[in-house]
Amino acid sequence: MAPPHFLLVTFPAQGHINPSLQFAKRLLRVGAHVTFATAIRARHCMAESKSSSAGLSFASFSDGYDDGLDNWDDIDLYMDELDRRGSQTLSDLIALNHGNGRRFSGVFYTTLLPWAAEVARSHGIPSTLVWIQPATVLDFYYYYFHGYGDLIRSTGDNPSVPIQLPGLPSLMAGDIPSFCNAKNEYNFSLPLFQRHFEVLLEEANPRILANTFDALEPDPIRAIDKFEVIGIGPLIPSAFLDGQDPSDTSFGGDLFKSSSSYMQWLDTKPKASVIYLSFGSISVLSKPQKEEMVRALLEAGRPFLWVIRESGKEERDEDRLSFKEELEKLGMIVPWCTQVEVLSHPSVGCFVTHCGWNSTLESLVCGVPVVVFPQWSDQQTNAKLVADVWRTGVKVTPNEQGLVESGQMRRCLELVLGDGEEGEEMRRNAQKFRELAREAVKEGGSSDKSLRAFVNEVREASG
Ligand code: UDP
Repeated sequence: MAPPHFLLVTFPAQGHINPSLQFAKRLLRVGAHVTFATAIRARHCMAESKSSSAGLSFASFSDGYDDGLDNWDDIDLYMDELDRRGSQTLSDLIALNHGNGRRFSGVFYTTLLPWAAEVARSHGIPSTLVWIQPATVLDFYYYYFHGYGDLIRSTGDNPSVPIQLPGLPSLMAGDIPSFCNAKNEYNFSLPLFQRHFEVLLEEANPRILANTFDALEPDPIRAIDKFEVIGIGPLIPSAFLDGQDPSDTSFGGDLFKSSSSYMQWLDTKPKASVIYLSFGSISVLSKPQKEEMVRALLEAGRPFLWVIRESGKEERDEDRLSFKEELEKLGMIVPWCTQVEVLSHPSVGCFVTHCGWNSTLESLVCGVPVVVFPQWSDQQTNAKLVADVWRTGVKVTPNEQGLVESGQMRRCLELVLGDGEEGEEMRRNAQKFRELAREAVKEGGSSDKSLRAFVNEVREASG
């Protein structure tokens, strides 16, 4: 029987491209062909990164900004353009392939691209959503649009009353995805999530492949009976997870340029001594917040590796960090790094993270306890899972102005890195999830079995 050929359509942001590339490599490993497609602009940046995706084909569609995008300030306009131009050019791509005798057996599409399912349907191709956030967040959005919207919106008036949704941990107002929070300032995403559910629920047997695993979210994976959530994660380069492919040492699609000397620097540091700080590929800390962080790091007096992305603009005097010399004596500031490699280094003892879902999974896979400092989107909910459900880290508490003061930050760092019982427990839990993640992806593990079964089904259906 011929191997199935999938088209994998990916939103052009780092947090989508990384798990999607890893998903593509897993599909290749179970014998499928894959064409990975993202926006032209992102594809250009990816082409410059060290790629470990032999056997993968690449294609691109337009998001309306092929020559570049200065910032995401008008995100509503961007999402409209992406939908309009993306639908058109993706449809052309599929038609061209079909014209050349290469018919896709299925289309996968990542979160925020419900229109990709509509394009697939117009060509008579089955499609499947690849959800790149926790199952808990998927369920939460489902509940928001199906019977619990008023309850969730009322948390704005009663922030101290927990919301209890079937199969989910109880959530306070500060734990829910920011888009559903009364203070939400972004309108672009909720209509897209709603459209995802509309598209899915029109199908006879809706299924969603999610970057999670059964032992991590046993109840949320099974909470909703209107669709099936299939855990196929964690989607992390093999060298840092199951080791089946030791050459797979990065996602292979960085949109940012990395520095190079930090690994040698980490080699010179004692075991579990380094604080690694990164806020992902989108969030930017305000200048006052960075200054609080600087003070916390200097007071903690431990080595640190801090990712501060370059803005692309010339640095102004007022942007410069204080105490630069003192900071340089203690640690390193880099514009980008290979995060999974850093987290796997034995000298890293703590990860200060914005709690993006990829960073969260990477911390679990590498067994590194965290200080969670959520910013927006799903990060508040991910932080709740980390701090209260899996107990692999501690969450910072901002002051009334929303600033995490240096003293608060230092206390959290000491809690995670110190010798107290709480720190011990977080490290033990982090190790436990490290093992469970490996169990899930090894041959016969829950995620491995589920993905193989899915691909075999498509192979039989299209054969
Ligand atoms: N990342 C990286 N190097 C860095 C910072 C981030 O490789 O210096 C990667 C990280 O490993 C993760 C992704 O970028 O896979 C960020 O995704 P996440 O979901 O954590 O956050 P987002 O960028 O979507 O906010």
